[in-house]
This record gives sequence, C-alpha cells and structure tokens, in this order.
Amino acid sequence: MTTEIASVPLPPVDAEVSVICCEYCPVACGYKVYKWPEGTEGGRGASENALGVDFPTGTLSGRWPSQNMHTVIEEDGQATNVIIIPDADSEVVNVGGTHSVRGGALAKKLYTKDGLTNDRYLTPMLKVNGEHVPISWDDAIDLVARLSEYTLETWDELAWGFKLYSYQFYENVFAATKLVLGEIGTPNISPHHAPADGDDVPGLSDVGIDAFGSAFADDKAADVLFIAGSDPYETKTIRFTTWQQPGGATIIYVDPRKTFTAAYAEKHDGLHLQILPGTDTALYGAIAREIFANGWEDAEFIRDHMASEDEIAAEGKWRRVQFGRSFDQYREYLEAEVDFGPEGVEAATGVPYAKIQEAAKILTGGGGERPKTMVLFEKGVYWSHNYENTAAIGNLGMVLGAVGAKGAQRAAWVVTSAVARKRPDIRWTNLLTPMRDTPLRWIPRGGSIRAIHASAGSLEPTGSAPWVPPTLSKPGSRSSPPWVQRSPQPTSRQRTRH
Ligand code: SF4
Repeated sequence: MTTEIASVPLPPVDAEVSVICCEYCPVACGYKVYKWPEGTEGGRGASENALGVDFPTGTLSGRWPSQNMHTVIEEDGQATNVIIIPDADSEVVNVGGTHSVRGGALAKKLYTKDGLTNDRYLTPMLKVNGEHVPISWDDAIDLVARLSEYTLETWDELAWGFKLYSYQFYENVFAATKLVLGEIGTPNISPHHAPADGDDVPGLSDVGIDAFGSAFADDKAADVLFIAGSDPYETKTIRFTTWQQPGGATIIYVDPRKTFTAAYAEKHDGLHLQILPGTDTALYGAIAREIFANGWEDAEFIRDHMASEDEIAAEGKWRRVQFGRSFDQYREYLEAEVDFGPEGVEAATGVPYAKIQEAAKILTGGGGERPKTMVLFEKGVYWSHNYENTAAIGNLGMVLGAVGAKGAQRAAWVVTSAVARKRPDIRWTNLLTPMRDTPLRWIPRGGSIRAIHASAGSLEPTGSAPWVPPTLSKPGSRSSPPWVQRSPQPTSRQRTRH
C-alpha cells in the first residue's frame, strides 16, 4: 500500500499579501492572506518564498501552511491559490502566529467550484411555484425594494422586519443597520442570535457593567480566573493558550460538563464546579453568601462604589428601580433564601457545599492577601436565563471588588445595540418572563409584520423560529406574506476578502 503525501504550494515572493482577522469569535486573531496564480509557486529557500523562511519549518509558527490553510479559488476567471495563515508578525491576540482549529481552516470557507463549498448559491434565488430559481442581482434588489415600498405604503414601517448578520463585520452590519433603523425606521430588527434589539446581558447592564470590557492582558495578570458559560480551551483557544494558561492563574471553572478546562483547573489547584444545568444563579449567590459569612468581601469597594436605594431611585431607570437593591438588601436576600445556603445549595446546584466554601476562599484569598480575581462568562450564561444569572454573576464581581484594576475585571462578550424608539412596548415587554414568551418580543403581536428580510443569518437558530410562520400567515393578515430570506451569496472576489 502506498501512502500519498499531500503538499501545499508555497507562495512566491511576489504573491499578493493582505492582513485580516479571523471572524469566528471575538478573540479576532490576526491572519495573513497570500494569493497568486495557480500553476506557479515559491521555492523552499527563504529568499524564494513570500513567507521568508527556509522549509521545512515549524508548525504553529505562522510560517508553515497546512492543507487546511490552502485552497484554490477562481478570481476574475483565473484559478488562484489562496493561503490563509496565522500572522507570524502579530503582536496582539495570537502573538507569534498560533491559531485554533477553527482559525486554521479559514481557507476552507472560500467558495470553490469543486470543493466543500460548491453547494453555495451563486446568484439570488426566487421561489416560484415552490421551486427556487436563479435571478439576477438587479432583479433581486428591485424585488426587495418594491416589496418594501408596498409594505410601507400599505401598512407602515412596523410591518417591515429585518433579521440580520452573523459574525460579520463593519461594512455589512453598518449598511444593514442604517437601512433598518435609518431608512426604513422600524424597531423590528433582530440580530443574528437574539429575537430583539436590546441588551444582550441586561442583568450585567443593571449591575452597571459594560460587557466586552476586558483586555486579554488582564487574563494573564490575574491571580484567579472565575470562568463560566463556555470552555475557553474549546471555544477561545488562543485566549486560553496564549493569555490565560501562561498567566498561571488558579481557575475556578463552572460547567455541567467535565471538559478539558475542568480537568486543567483541577490539576492546577483550581476547582471544577460541576453544576446542574440552569442552576448557576443559585451557585453565584451561594458563593457570595459564603464570602459575606466570612467577612471576605471587598468592603472598601462596596462602600465607595455601590449605589444606595435613593441613588437608584434618582436614576429613574425602571429596571434598576424595579430590581436593583442596596448592598444590605442584597445580602439580606441571599441570607433569606435556602438555595443560597449550606442546607439548600447542593440540592439546588449539585455542587457540594465544601467546594463552594473553597471557591469563596480562592476568589478572595480567605482573609489573607486579596488576589487579583477576574470573573468571565460566556453564552452558556447569558443565552440561558440571561437576566437572573447575569445579574448574579455581576453581583459576585461587585462582592469581590473585581473591577477597574489590572487583572481584576468582570466581563462578558457582547455588543451594544441601537435604540429602538418606536415601540417601547415591544422592546421592553417580557424582559423577565420565561423563555416561552421571548420570541414574541421582536414580532408585534397579532401578526402585523408583513415582510421580513433575513440577511446572512438564518431565522431558525433563534427562539423566534417557531413563531414566525404562524405569525406571518395569521388569518386576517396576508396569507402568503412577502418573504425574502437569505441574501444572495457574494462573488468569489468578495469572498476572498474575509
Ligand atoms: S480563537 Fe480561533 S476562532 Fe477565535 S478568532 Fe482566534 S482563530 Fe478565530
């Protein structure tokens, strides 16, 4: 049996080079794109290739292109080699050119006629008598414009909805947002992951924290990392391997699963708090209560920075007025609930109380020198209960005084959103009600939306999916509403700009 050894052509010295960042996650690692005509390639000597090193060379060096980093596209009618490789010159994020599994396969996303991506649409498609048929860009744009015009003239802007974007960046998000909030002027906008335009992490906002506020350098400077809501090694590999793990912080990791990071934390003097799914609010409250019970809270920070009842009332922000509490009230609340105490928390969360005691000690130093503690969470937290648990973990950060200092931050990864002013009843309705009601937040009740433009993000993954068809086809509204779903695919030339 013979084994075929695959090879990847090296970019010649005159290859076109551009610098990009990976779009998969907010870590945004730096990459370089090399393009040159198929049929030519550089040599193995450092002076003969655009990577500037002698081959063979080391992997994870930002100079060694693997098969997954290479593809051949067609550009301007010419077969073109493309290599997308971690940027060895990167001085931030993926310093020195390392990469995660996802980032290392960016080239495979590009459209190729004969490859994995050959099932993509090349033109806009129109559904005619149950069949999708290709149409031109001009026709597609004209059709969407006419349907929009008809919708606005027949009803109003509230009958026009937009489902937009999915991990893409400035150009398309700016254009889409300007169209929806500016030109159309409708509040019926649904970002790729959420049923409505609003706070992604309202509990955190109410605690007074800007999400996405931390720097990776703080991960490295921290003594203790409290991490919940996703496994950083699996989902933010560079952040974990380049910033968190080398910093040597003790990790307290919250996850119902025994993952790599859970094992790593336990092996390096940390903890895995293996909660029952959906019980993290009780866990954060229990840790805070244990901290109070021992007098380990950051009393100075609390004294200097927590709002009083009067201050909260004076702000007039209804959610903070409704749900905000002074610190004394918060502590009383924790002490009054059995699920936050030794007698109830293990049954509620599945986490032994001894581990909660240990977590409280590690996070605060247990009365000794206070460590720099960083509290981090991800979508496993804010895409579940969202309000209660994000408020609870935000409060834990406050108890720890983990804010505004090197290596001591609380943060989530979340974007801000524009204000939808026209229908405050939709924007604010059901903010705290159970998940079964959330899909209705972005669709006016009574089936009054007649047209939805869904762009670069499918409706199905959102909670709105089960409600969309019945809402749109409700008796009394149009039985077959205009429905333009899925923006046409970009040309191969556009794709190479990722
Ligand atoms: S960690 Fe991976 S997925 Fe995230 S930006 Fe970096 S390469 Fe992309």
